[in-house]
Amino acid sequence: MKNKIFKYDFLIIGSGLIGAITAYALCKKNFNVLIIDKNDNNFKDNRTLAVNANSKELLEQLGIWNELKFKPQPINKIVIKDYINSSPLLFINKDSPMGSVIFNKELHKILIKKLKTLKALKTNTNLDLRNITPNKLIKIRNRNYKFKKIIVSIGKSINTSSGQKSIIFNKNHHSYVGFFNHENDHKNIAYEIFKKEGPLAVLPSPSKDRRKSTFIFSTNKDISYLDLQLLIKKNFNISHGKLKFDKLINKFPITPHLKKYDKNYIYIGDTLRSIHPVAGQGWNLGVKDIQTLCKLIEQYPLESKIFNSIYYSRRAVESVLYLGFTSLVNYLYENQNTVNKNVLNIGFRTFRNFRLLRDLFIKQAMGKINLID
Ligand SMILES: Cc1cc2nc3c(=O)[nH]c(=O)nc-3n(C[C@H](O)[C@H](O)[C@H](O)COP(=O)(O)OP(=O)(O)OC[C@H]3O[C@@H](n4cnc5c(N)ncnc54)[C@H](O)[C@@H]3O)c2cc1C
Repeated sequence: MKNKIFKYDFLIIGSGLIGAITAYALCKKNFNVLIIDKNDNNFKDNRTLAVNANSKELLEQLGIWNELKFKPQPINKIVIKDYINSSPLLFINKDSPMGSVIFNKELHKILIKKLKTLKALKTNTNLDLRNITPNKLIKIRNRNYKFKKIIVSIGKSINTSSGQKSIIFNKNHHSYVGFFNHENDHKNIAYEIFKKEGPLAVLPSPSKDRRKSTFIFSTNKDISYLDLQLLIKKNFNISHGKLKFDKLINKFPITPHLKKYDKNYIYIGDTLRSIHPVAGQGWNLGVKDIQTLCKLIEQYPLESKIFNSIYYSRRAVESVLYLGFTSLVNYLYENQNTVNKNVLNIGFRTFRNFRLLRDLFIKQAMGKINLID
């Protein structure tokens, strides 16, 4: 028993929202999967997640969507305003919601329960990435294992793991996240307001109560909770009526990055690329990583030497586009000069005047455009 080698198809390192879904999707395809996490299952993240139409479809296919008890709130309209243009940009998809808002924590809890039932998860387990390679012996808690493929899903902590190379943008930015109750119905509208201090997003909160919303304010400045409340009140007291804020506010670092290719690993979710939350698409891009991986498995054997490079090349284009677009928008709003204002003004007007462009934007935000597959 001591010398026995346990042979698996996949080792997944990191059981966050992306690693856990990947593990469950692969288990459902009858692969032998072991997923490990350096922490326990006590997922403390009380953020909400804007799930686009494509990601919702995957969660439905996996039988997860119906298990959500807090009512997901559909997003039927997106309103974008800025400090340069007087009238807003409106995005509406007539046929179906563009996305829905759910709680990260609830989704994670459902996934962990499923992985535990499958006996696929080991928590409080840390491995040094420098010492693990596919098809070579790996010791985990005194047991010997061999894995055909190693998926790294440790989020942004990839940047602090030694020996790992990434390209990093927008240092020193962070997001303040909290909740508030309001007098008026949120009408299932999501708002993004580009303030001089940074972008402020307000989304309906998952609940039967249609008078609860969440805010995400991303900035490179420090702001007191009182000042932030005043900023939100100033912008939302007309649409939402009187506001009452929850006591708790959380602060999350923003470090957009892109991971360089490494032949030994499949990088997925925030490990592969992390983008500024202004687009509300980081996790949705991770879901697309999972879908690409699942498609690739049907096209190539796991033993194929080109498997990892094909996966990387298929995901790199969209990652670079999102990383570039979100970083550029933030840069232009943050650096206020005549040239930047003119560029933003032209961009706003182009979107307002061309319906086709707006429709394309909506399709992309819904995750319905596959750039390379
Ligand atoms: C304020 C904010 C709002 C956002 N809102 C949205 C949104 O509305 N929609 C959207 O699509 N995206 C959103 N995002 C992005 C989204 O939160 C992330 O893309 C997503 O959570 C990333 O999940 P992940 O599993 O890749 O990484 P993580 O959630 O960071 O998970 C990593 C896991 O790896 C584990 N780990 C770390 N190091 C190791 C190690 N060495 N060994 C083993 N385990 C390890 C950790 O314990 C953790 O469990 C938002 C981001 C921010 C900052």
